[in-house]
Amino acid sequence: MDPLETYDYLVIGAGSGGMASARRAARHGAKVALVERGRLGGTCVNVGCVPKKLMWNAAECAEWLKDASDYGFEVQRPKVDWAALKRARDQYVARLNGIYERNVELDGVRLFRGEAKFAGPGLVRVGDEQLSAHHILIATGGRPNVPNVPGAELGLTSDGFFALESRPDRVAVVGAGYIAVEIAGVFNALRSDVTLFVRGGRLLAGFDEMLATTLASEMSAAGVSLMSSHELCAVTRAEDGTLSVESHHGKRHSGFDALVWATGRVPNCEGLALDTVAVKRNERSEIEVDDFQNTSAEGIYAVGDVTGRKQLTPVAIAAGRRLADRLFGGKPDAKLDYENVPSVVFSHPPIGTVGLTESEARELYGDDVKIYTTRFTNMRFGFTERKPKTAMKLVCVGPQEKVVGVHTIGTGSDELLQGFAVAVKLGATKADFDRTVAVHPTASEELVLLT
Ligand code: FAD
Ligand code: NDP
Repeated sequence: MDPLETYDYLVIGAGSGGMASARRAARHGAKVALVERGRLGGTCVNVGCVPKKLMWNAAECAEWLKDASDYGFEVQRPKVDWAALKRARDQYVARLNGIYERNVELDGVRLFRGEAKFAGPGLVRVGDEQLSAHHILIATGGRPNVPNVPGAELGLTSDGFFALESRPDRVAVVGAGYIAVEIAGVFNALRSDVTLFVRGGRLLAGFDEMLATTLASEMSAAGVSLMSSHELCAVTRAEDGTLSVESHHGKRHSGFDALVWATGRVPNCEGLALDTVAVKRNERSEIEVDDFQNTSAEGIYAVGDVTGRKQLTPVAIAAGRRLADRLFGGKPDAKLDYENVPSVVFSHPPIGTVGLTESEARELYGDDVKIYTTRFTNMRFGFTERKPKTAMKLVCVGPQEKVVGVHTIGTGSDELLQGFAVAVKLGATKADFDRTVAVHPTASEELVLLT
């Protein structure tokens, strides 16, 4: 075996968090090794944000085409060529994989291909090679969770959704979180017949209730069949190849060409031999970290989805960069502030949300909470047949009416959120919003005109 090569920093996983942290550390002058068993870019680039946003764009395109005749265009409503869309999407993702590879090289990060596994404190094995490092980052992300019910393997996950070569006519989507509503919205806009099975009573648990109820009514109006309080307990394939599902109260739904489980994600920890280095995990198997991304083992850190904290790409990136700044950039106090992280759900219509929900604020501040809301039809739908609604809410607290939550659903919510998230982060008050001159005619102006 070759003499042991020692690195300042060894990063396991070249996804959003690992890649960002490795590159930042190398720019600070550290000697960095990065280990990846799959495609560079991880979940976000290959089976997450990027291909998802492209599918959402395609769905948006379909919706504009639906409205085009109301705007005076003579258009037939075309069907999407799913295979062509997938080809273009795959090529775009492959281009990004190449760019990532070049960037890693340019920053002087040494890339190892293969499955990493701890071999003891400061030691990691990749295939036949053993690497040693002073600091080791676990950024191994997660994978889809599939419920343990008979026939579950007949369904796809979000990974399988991106692998589909053709558009299924009738689809069952299971779940009520980000992925479920996003995938259901895409299928529906691209003219599949969609049934969404929700085990509880509402969509998007943890989001402001106004967002959940508005989304449910808009999805129903757009043609999605919403089956709430339907927990599936079995999936079977009929002789004609279609799938049937059975819910826990004995109801059967048949004739689906595909089923997609969108039932949460589990961390990628197995195979890392974490017991050899005493890294603690919680009851969901996620790696426990403190505010500085330290695990229970000295010199071992974790960022991103594997920690289960706000599973969003910019969070993994920011946590990874702060950690590299702390370890190698002379910033001993650098850490990510997980408060007021903005998030967009690319549903139809999209949702933008930052800060406390109304119920969280009431729990914390009781009667000191003041709520401002509005509900209207975006001018885009002024004379179209479809009339999706936009709904907005400001959650304010105290005599100063500090804005602690901004929640919007409707066309444009995805792009308007970032700026309002800056205002919330800076501690803006309702009066600051009122003092800001509106941008007309937009949907976002309504947020500075609330009374
Ligand atoms: P990952 O990006 O998952 O990277 C982990 C990497 O580690 C992978 O490449 C994996 O192959 C590698 N790995 C694992 N184990 C090993 C091992 N033992 N050895 C070597 N390599 C290993 N977030 C947003 O902010 N916006 C969105 O719009 C959005 N859309 C999403 C849509 C979908 C369908 C999904 C599934 C997720 C979406 N997310 C979105 C979430 C986002 O993708 C994740 O939060 C983000 O990718 C997490 O980054 P990470 O670095 O923690 O893990
Ligand atoms: P979520 O945690 O958002 O939602 C999981 C859903 O699965 C919940 O509705 C949950 O229901 C449901 N569920 C879990 N188990 C079962 C079961 N056995 N039967 C039926 N339903 C079940 O996870 P997702 O998988 O949607 O997404 C994972 C994470 O990825 C998100 O939390 C988000 O952080 C990130 N993401 C971000 C996106 C974005 O930024 N736009 C897009 C996509 C993903 P219940 O509510 O009853 O627990």
